Amino acid sequence: MTEWTKIATQLAEEFAPRAAEIDREARFPFENVERMKEVGYLSSVVPTELGGGGVDLATFAACQKIIAGACASTALATNMHLFGVGAAAEGWKGGERAAEPIFRMVAAGVIVGGSLTDAATGLNVRTSSTPAHPVEGGYLIKGRKSFCSLAPVLQFFWGTAADTETGRLLLFGLGRDTPGLRFVDTWDTMAMRGTGSWDVVFEDVFVPDAAVQRGSDPSAPPVWDAAQERTFAWFAVSIAAVYLGIARSAARFAYDYVGGRTVTGASLPMARQPAQVSSAAEIELALRPAEAMLNDVITRRAAGELLQPSDIQALKYVSVNAADAAVDRCVRMVGGHGIFRKLPLERYYRDVRAGQFHPPSNDVAVETIGKAALGIDPAAEPRWPAD
Ligand SMILES: Cc1cc2nc3c(=O)[nH]c(=O)nc-3n(C[C@H](O)[C@H](O)[C@H](O)COP(=O)(O)OP(=O)(O)OC[C@H]3O[C@@H](n4cnc5c(N)ncnc54)[C@H](O)[C@@H]3O)c2cc1C
Repeated sequence: MTEWTKIATQLAEEFAPRAAEIDREARFPFENVERMKEVGYLSSVVPTELGGGGVDLATFAACQKIIAGACASTALATNMHLFGVGAAAEGWKGGERAAEPIFRMVAAGVIVGGSLTDAATGLNVRTSSTPAHPVEGGYLIKGRKSFCSLAPVLQFFWGTAADTETGRLLLFGLGRDTPGLRFVDTWDTMAMRGTGSWDVVFEDVFVPDAAVQRGSDPSAPPVWDAAQERTFAWFAVSIAAVYLGIARSAARFAYDYVGGRTVTGASLPMARQPAQVSSAAEIELALRPAEAMLNDVITRRAAGELLQPSDIQALKYVSVNAADAAVDRCVRMVGGHGIFRKLPLERYYRDVRAGQFHPPSNDVAVETIGKAALGIDPAAEPRWPAD
């Protein structure tokens, strides 16, 4: 155990007892996020020379898995702050200096969140239907984005919009108090109810040129370079860790439950029944390959390999689907009591379902992985044959 996994374990012990209430009330876990800030967890991934903990991807994933097992909403919401900063910090170790102001901000306690998702059209990270009209010195943005986790507390917002003249995707950063920028509580969901993933409304928000990074032309072929790989790898690895963390908690709960329950008339606990043994095996056979794949991705990157989109998407796909399948089986093991709200299993069952909706969705991942295996250029047109 590293110093940071010890900290994550302590945080998890504090968060676990209030996870049910956070879920039931669909309330944002302010006190958990405050504790994470207090112990330096929210700046753990910032380079040490800039006041952070210098945590690498392996440790970050291990910590997120531990915290997700206690309060999935807290882990997932703060993941949206941590993964991007962590990816940029990996670039810093390689000599890239552009993110230094962000590191200083985060080391000083600022919480960063963002939405790349357009409320009307969903997620396509290469484009946006939120219009940005060029004006003197910058852009005027009007529109609505959604799924902005950490919205109740974030102080710095990242978003995307499309330049109405060139169609280019713009990535921009704004302070929370920017005039015209509003966060609206729309988060009433079945899963991940404590993430505060609200809508973001832009009422003629002026974004100065200095706050904008011009993205690529959406009609140009996609570029896959070290910077892209870092961001997508940190995202996929941490998402995998969060959802596998939930599934491991569900498995521990189910194993303990059947191990501790002896029904009237039986001589041995439920765990001795063949069906329960078989269920436990199914759970392990779902989770262990996914956990091994998570470690493999981390190890290959640490050894300097630049992973391909299909490697990263395969990890995300395998992990969230393994977590889904394992938790389904946990519910079957526990039986009817598994659906009672007084037990945590139904919360794990609901939370784990959100995994498939993070990019890439199962549908998108299947296309990337299948085309890569067949040696088909993902940018090849037509995308699908007409005949
Ligand atoms: C708990 C939670 C927290 C989140 N937090 C954030 C956050 O902080 N910031 C943020 O930016 N986003 C966040 N997201 C949003 C997430 O990244 C997605 O943008 C969001 O779930 C919208 O996805 P969608 O399925 O509605 O997208 P849509 O694009 O509307 O997709 C709808 C359906 O169409 C399918 N589909 C879409 N495009 C294709 C395609 N090209 N090929 C085949 N099938 C396709 C999808 O698989 C999906 O089944 C969060 C999501 C969740 C669940």
